[in-house]
Amino acid sequence: MNLVEQVRQRALEQPNRIAFHYKGKDITYGEFEQAVGQFASVIRHLNIQKGEHIALLLGNRPEFLISLYAAMRAGVTVIPINPIYTMDEITYIVNNGDVKAIIAEESFLKTIEKGIHAFPQVESYLICESSNKIEEKVSILSESVKEKVKLFNKELDSITTLFDCVEIDHEDTAVILYTSGTTGYPKGAMLSHKNLYSNARDVSNHFLMSSEDRVIATLPLFHVFGLTVVANAPLLKGANILIAPRFSPSEIYELAETQKATVFAGVPTMLNFLCQFKKGNPENFSYLRLAISGGAPLPISVLHSFEERFNIKVSEGYGLSEAAPVTCFNPLNRERKPGSIGMSIPNVENRVVDDQGNEVPIGEVGELVVRGPNVMKGYYKLPEETSNAIREGWLYTGDLARKDEDDYFYIVDRKKDLIIVGGYNVYPREVEEVLYSHPNVLESAVVGIPDPDFGETVYAYVTLKENTSTICELQQFCAKSLAKYKIPEVIEFIDRIPKNSTGKILKRELKEMEKTN
Ligand code: AMP
Repeated sequence: MNLVEQVRQRALEQPNRIAFHYKGKDITYGEFEQAVGQFASVIRHLNIQKGEHIALLLGNRPEFLISLYAAMRAGVTVIPINPIYTMDEITYIVNNGDVKAIIAEESFLKTIEKGIHAFPQVESYLICESSNKIEEKVSILSESVKEKVKLFNKELDSITTLFDCVEIDHEDTAVILYTSGTTGYPKGAMLSHKNLYSNARDVSNHFLMSSEDRVIATLPLFHVFGLTVVANAPLLKGANILIAPRFSPSEIYELAETQKATVFAGVPTMLNFLCQFKKGNPENFSYLRLAISGGAPLPISVLHSFEERFNIKVSEGYGLSEAAPVTCFNPLNRERKPGSIGMSIPNVENRVVDDQGNEVPIGEVGELVVRGPNVMKGYYKLPEETSNAIREGWLYTGDLARKDEDDYFYIVDRKKDLIIVGGYNVYPREVEEVLYSHPNVLESAVVGIPDPDFGETVYAYVTLKENTSTICELQQFCAKSLAKYKIPEVIEFIDRIPKNSTGKILKRELKEMEKTN
């Protein structure tokens, strides 16, 4: 079985149930199925064949999922791209990913002329309508560009015969995800139909999702966390997906209230902002049965504030693009441990190993490795990187972790973010946790910077709730819980910690900032 078949089955069983709620409108499973069949026909009319690639430059909107499921039905591989990327970032992925067609937001029309030169192999552009000015915007494009541009819904409406599924092998590549790229060039993780299906199945079972659920989808769908946890998994169970085009605390409070949301999944920054939004009434979330955090470490102080404010336990989990993505989550039926990413989800094995690949004793820190049906096929066109990442069937995550006696895992930090001060290891996360626990600290990020005496020294960036704390006060506060060599030598107050769309702190950017200081 694959996602396409399973979701089609859902549509046959419950055609009138609501699949998506978006900007005040509902789309049923029956309507979704019809649009997927139509759009798969559009894909073929554009001469995109099985095994070829299309890119989605879309935010959260129903057309994202219609395009994805239609492409999967036609055996075409999808490359989702963050629509707010710069032209350079888009160009790299489109060219590296051998993209033949692009489905984009209306705003892309502004830069489309540049795109035509930067990636000439792209034969067609399907633009999702957002305003009634779109025809006008297309009319002013040059003739050579206009030839390649079509309007999404207009094309959809022109189709009368629905496309039936091509034969899909479960090892065929369904999507290629260019991973965050917080360091170096992004690499394209190839996920098969089996990878996507197995993780959506295991996640939906783990969280006991059902057709009664109403799931807030504010995590970006172009990122694997959103794709699997708030789209594919609920779709498999016939749930209602409440699509939020962007994350805004006031809109999420409103959506939760009006749609009686039962599931919220977010990155830690989102949970933090929902807590800090004092104008919102926590009662709006009274139907919530599940709050999920992932994508980046959830500071323990944020976990506690969220639980207190919304009177619900938070389940933190962990995943990565290369594992479609989820490998661990805190269980629903047992204790959830603050600071822990929980236990292996069904069908997935996690281990903590040393540099030789041997499992380390309980409590010791090593690299987290993962095995299961969710582990990617490899990186697109990068055999060497693939064999580096997957060794003897185990995916090396690049994250340092430890396991406790109850089989709960804890992410200590990313291997490459480790700071070494005079031979001692400092895990930035440990220092960040302490800073977060200060009542006046909103956010913090810690990096290592070169030091002539100690090799590296600890440098902390902090955003404050109120401008009343001083550097000295925060250093003294750290001294209560941290060994001397871990106390930030320098603390810099900034307005905003730079993060990517999935809440990961852009440490490289912070180091660059420090260099230019
Ligand atoms: P991505 O491929 O963009 O999904 O990023 C995956 C990376 O996010 C992992 O390798 C971790 O470094 C980080 N990550 C995801 N979830 C967590 C978590 N709960 N705690 C700490 N780091 C996390």
